[in-house]
Amino acid sequence: MLGLMMKQELLISDLIVHAGKYHSDTEIISRETSGEMHTTNWRGVSDASRQLASALSKLGLSQGDRVATLAWNNHRHLKIWFAVSGGGMVCHTLNPRLPPEQFIFICNDANDRAMFFDKTFMPLITGTRAHLKTIEHYIYMGSRDEDVLAAIPDVVFFDELIETGADDYTWPQFGEETPCSLCYTSGTTGNPKGVLYTNRSTMLHTFAISLPDSLALSANEIILPVVPMFHANAWGIPYATAMTGAKVVMPGPGLDGDSLLELIDTYKVSLALGVPTIWMMLLAAADKSGSKMESLTRNVIGGSAAAPSMIAAFRDDYACETIHAWGMTETSPLGTANQIKAKHLDLDAEAMADLRAGQGRPPFGIDLRIVDETGKVLPNDGTTEGALQCRGHWVVDTYFGTNESVVSGGGWFDTGDVSTIDEDGFMVIRDRTKDIIKSGGEWISSVDLEGIAVAHPGIAMAAAIGATHPKWDERPIIIAVPAEGTKPSEAEILAMFEGKVASWQIPDAVVFTDAIPLNATGKMLKNKLREQFGNTLIEKGV
Ligand code: ADP
Repeated sequence: MLGLMMKQELLISDLIVHAGKYHSDTEIISRETSGEMHTTNWRGVSDASRQLASALSKLGLSQGDRVATLAWNNHRHLKIWFAVSGGGMVCHTLNPRLPPEQFIFICNDANDRAMFFDKTFMPLITGTRAHLKTIEHYIYMGSRDEDVLAAIPDVVFFDELIETGADDYTWPQFGEETPCSLCYTSGTTGNPKGVLYTNRSTMLHTFAISLPDSLALSANEIILPVVPMFHANAWGIPYATAMTGAKVVMPGPGLDGDSLLELIDTYKVSLALGVPTIWMMLLAAADKSGSKMESLTRNVIGGSAAAPSMIAAFRDDYACETIHAWGMTETSPLGTANQIKAKHLDLDAEAMADLRAGQGRPPFGIDLRIVDETGKVLPNDGTTEGALQCRGHWVVDTYFGTNESVVSGGGWFDTGDVSTIDEDGFMVIRDRTKDIIKSGGEWISSVDLEGIAVAHPGIAMAAAIGATHPKWDERPIIIAVPAEGTKPSEAEILAMFEGKVASWQIPDAVVFTDAIPLNATGKMLKNKLREQFGNTLIEKGV
């Protein structure tokens, strides 16, 4: 033997051991479901998660069992995550915004044995319980509560359960390929599919997202994960904050602009993460209150495309740098993050804004390529569009409960997105394959059109869809929600497109509406919009 390095399995429990030991007094602040604020620290989370893991094992749960959570981002949820995964079980985060039939499907499909829940979601449980076949333990995330007891007589109370755990419990050791968590895709079409992450894939993802060229996380940040822990594991932030020892502020149920603004200003949040709809509400709240959100130096936008005007508003009005990121439930989720290279340092403001508007480049551990409809690999020239595929250490191979790999020839996963990639690896999402607008055989990016429309101050939200057209098959139209107190005209909105896209790409109509339907993770439901507005041009008699 020439020599050996230590072999340690990559385990989630190591994250919380590290945070408890080396960042013991770093605070974890969270808004309780009742609205009150709660403060603990990494030591508190570490001790509680160990004790809870012990309590869960006494309850009869064992390795591999699925334990569901139906919860906001708060300190108990964080403790559950480390207890369940650290104890060798699978933490299954449930999205409470799913339609009840999908919710039922997911719980049964996952074979969840226990479910932790916040009070907000009690009606969802009482309304669906008769159909939840596998759950043996309902655990209320709080102290004894008579209302909860009346609604769910066999409920267990978190604060009592944890007391049954042993103080001297030690984390079990097992192989790093052991599953640790389970997330379902949002299932816009068909039933949602489960993605089962392993300790290893999660740990490698955690290292990668913390890097300076990804989200640049560290112990000197105060981080507000607005993205819910039930949305692709809050993009891995709970794990990465434990790894880096960052201070965390958890928003609980307060996801409206005013509540988020209050948290940012009170706790001097330096980095916040969330989907575009959240930022829209935050920008409106900050504008109304006059706050400049001085502490917020960076934010991460992902889940849907960030409009260039939104990135500009953060940069110019709030001195906040946006990191635009792309990913999927199937990719743990981080696939790319937009950080520049040394050669870009001298770019002028316009070129820099263009570069930063895209979804960025993959960290080590993720590989990307684009292909045409025959599977031929297309060039990374920054202009050729193709179907985006990826592979890597934290990309799905087989969905939960199936034996069939979804990875096509050569080991690539098809993302369902259309993108360009340039020679430096910078990727720009042009559209989802199913949302791209096909006008007379040419493609028009709905993402581009939406980005232009929302730059109008009178537009709060806009979706571009293909409306049926007798001559061109489809023509783009804009479905727009006016900003509060404004009444923009169709002509004004259409004028926004002049000179910004080719004339044949300019939408044919703007339809104003009160609200755009969103899916459970805040994405615009384009299929619903097509059902509702797809005949707009036909009805106009074009
Ligand atoms: P969820 O709805 O739970 O986030 P998905 O995994 O279905 O689940 O979402 C992934 C999809 O979201 C991507 O394939 C892409 O279409 C879209 N997406 C994510 N981030 C971005 C982004 N920054 N810009 C544009 N689209 C994005």
